[in-house]
Amino acid sequence: MIEAKRASLVYQDHGREVFACRDVDLQLEDDKFFGVLGPSGSGKSSLLYLLSGLKMPTSGEVAYRGEPYAHMAERSRGELRLSKFGFVFQHPFLIGYLTALENVLLVGSNDGEERAKDLFSRMGLAEKAHRMPAELSGGEKQRVCVARALLSEPEIIFADEPTASLDHASGETVIDLLNTFRKGALVVVSHDLSMLRHADKIYRMEDGRLAQVNQKRSSSGRSSISDVH
Ligand code: ADP
Ligand code: MG
Repeated sequence: MIEAKRASLVYQDHGREVFACRDVDLQLEDDKFFGVLGPSGSGKSSLLYLLSGLKMPTSGEVAYRGEPYAHMAERSRGELRLSKFGFVFQHPFLIGYLTALENVLLVGSNDGEERAKDLFSRMGLAEKAHRMPAELSGGEKQRVCVARALLSEPEIIFADEPTASLDHASGETVIDLLNTFRKGALVVVSHDLSMLRHADKIYRMEDGRLAQVNQKRSSSGRSSISDVH
């Protein structure tokens, strides 16, 4: 669905070049769960910017269904993100004067309310729907952000360290909910391998370079990594 070919992203930092992504080759197929592991500063967020068309590669190409983002008008890329992509970030962004449900409905269509309520109840959030963000825990706020990302049934969800500000159990819940209720592909960036154990493919980012990690599947269906760390 989305393909990067030798895509690089170079930032200019006071006259110095910073290679956030170097010659990244990656294919994101429909319906799969992709994990990207890597330390802080390795280029994970930059990779998501490239894959979602938020930034154009300084060399190489990133394309959505065969059409390079660089050939699309900025407005079309924006419409694409709004209608086909979902996003979850490290810090749950909710509007403080709207309830949890209203925050989710902000992105919804006409039949959004019914589907949002259904999603809330299936995600164990029914009792929290009418609370204000300040009345929710960090984990609950992030689950509301997950519901918001899921509402439009996006073709792909990009989650940038969605568990990094949560305790381990809440983090696992967030990943499980994303993985259970997604209708399309999922890309989760994390520096915690245990969050990626249900991923179909795991990549490691180091110094802007992306490499697929050898994955063994145990009888429990969990991934274990043989060549990480
Ligand atoms: P990660 O998400 O893995 O922490 P980032 O993609 O945010 O990594 O950053 C990758 C590298 O690019 C880092 O060295 C970071 O300092 C640098 N960087 C990120 N954004 C900018 C920018 N706007 N200008 C200059 N350097 C940047
Ligand atoms: Mg980042």
